[in-house]
Amino acid sequence: MSGLPRRCRLTEALEPLRSRVPNGSLTPSSPGPHAGVTDVTHAGPVGRRRFVRVHLQVAATAEVLGRWPDPWSAVSPVERDRAQAFHGADDARDFLAAHLLARECVTALTGETTVHLEQRCTECGGPHGKPFVLGLSDACVSWSHSHGHVGAVAADVPVGVDVEARHRQHDIERLVRRTATPEEGAAILAGDDPDDAYLRMWVAKEALVKVGAITLGEFGRTDVRSGTYGGFTLTVTEPEGLAVGLAVQA
Ligand SMILES: [Zn+2]
Repeated sequence: MSGLPRRCRLTEALEPLRSRVPNGSLTPSSPGPHAGVTDVTHAGPVGRRRFVRVHLQVAATAEVLGRWPDPWSAVSPVERDRAQAFHGADDARDFLAAHLLARECVTALTGETTVHLEQRCTECGGPHGKPFVLGLSDACVSWSHSHGHVGAVAADVPVGVDVEARHRQHDIERLVRRTATPEEGAAILAGDDPDDAYLRMWVAKEALVKVGAITLGEFGRTDVRSGTYGGFTLTVTEPEGLAVGLAVQA
């Protein structure tokens, strides 16, 4: 794979803004390690399909790792390398737990107990971008991690999930200008809790990024207030201390 760029345009476009947004200082009321598990299963008519199954789980990193006797051996060498490339041990554990929780969700969806996940960037061929389940082309999967918590989803239609720990924004007016439509921004800033409202919008749009519906550069012209966008149904839940955005193809 020599000659490929180390970082593709996608990662370069995402990282500068990401590094400013989700890692703000946590509020004093932030939760401890237990946000509990949210296990949402839809089984209802969606779009032209009669039934769509969606398995979403959100859990503390420690809780997920505790369910796997030898968590590092359960992922591929590529996943291990990527996890160990993080600077902090906590970030590596979050990454690992998210990949394990994704396997649990695929198992819940398909019954397959051995799940192999792969990410291959359509632009540079690198091990990032939209993931897929090897050998199970009908199963769609997504995962996310944030400061000691992880979320994952598996479904039989394209899905994306984003998890963020709730936190105060440093300069919300500037963030709103960059990532909300004018109408969204006005509603966020006029509300009782602009930080939480902003985060709900953010996780919905990140879920759309994860499913490949939009890019980060399109946030400012993507209005998610209706709960649908581009053929996807958007759901935001707020387990204690977290915001979780889910995009499911309708
Ligand atoms: Zn790439």
